[in-house]
Amino acid sequence: MITVDMHSHTLFSHAKDSAADMAAAAARAGMRVFGFSEHSPRAEGYNYTNEYRERLRAGFPEYLSQVKELRERWNKAPADAKPLRVLLGLEVDWMPNERPFIEQMIAREPSWDYLIGSVHFLGTWGFDDRQADWDALDDDACHAKYNAYFSTLRTMAESRLMDIAAHPDLIKIFSADRFHAWIRRPEALRLIEDALKAIKESGMAMEVSAAGLRKPCAEIYPCPIIMQMAADMGIPISFASDSHCVEQVGWKFDELAAYARSFGYASSRYYVGRRPFDQPF
Ligand SMILES: [Zn+2]
Ligand SMILES: [Zn+2]
Repeated sequence: MITVDMHSHTLFSHAKDSAADMAAAAARAGMRVFGFSEHSPRAEGYNYTNEYRERLRAGFPEYLSQVKELRERWNKAPADAKPLRVLLGLEVDWMPNERPFIEQMIAREPSWDYLIGSVHFLGTWGFDDRQADWDALDDDACHAKYNAYFSTLRTMAESRLMDIAAHPDLIKIFSADRFHAWIRRPEALRLIEDALKAIKESGMAMEVSAAGLRKPCAEIYPCPIIMQMAADMGIPISFASDSHCVEQVGWKFDELAAYARSFGYASSRYYVGRRPFDQPF
């Protein structure tokens, strides 16, 4: 059974529930370790259609203090009454041109347990926002986006700023069929292999996420080809619900466990004070 969930959001960004309610839901779902990984405040010029930048910026200090309070409350409980270890994390938007902004933001908080690195933007385009954007692309343009995504994922790992590589094939979100045709090409496999090598060399874990099951692609992130390559390289994995409400905490984790196990995985990684620990599942 999976008892570690390293990816969750709160009402400080675009999610629905409070930090306290999310932690309580994690305890109810049988988690022993629960990571808060709210979105990072994002540099100007990178906008989603439904932008939550201002809300996040205004609430960010409160996010930090609420999660730290929960962390202390849960972690200081007596051992026999300690069902949950709460971790303070952040889902950092990786934009190769914004490294100084990103470094500054990370430096604001000295007690991160871990940082997740995510590619949600190619240039200033938030590609995981709208189906219509993808429907407007012909196959060549679509493949160029896949290429750019995996090159950007590689630079994220090469930055060595983060601990976990999020939803490694998020780029398939609105075009799964075309993605699966593309990924069989030798040049696609080379790009993916380069990104995974960078993840391996940086000592990061790779996320295995149930979020894709709730999206139009209707698949776990990442797909079997990437799972197999990661397993062959010995890259550790980290489990994620990417929950945006209490109902999603631990959702489909049985499916996630069976999937990871089918590639030979038997433990998942979490971080405390940015030091790695492995938990069997
Ligand atoms: Zn994400
Ligand atoms: Zn997320």
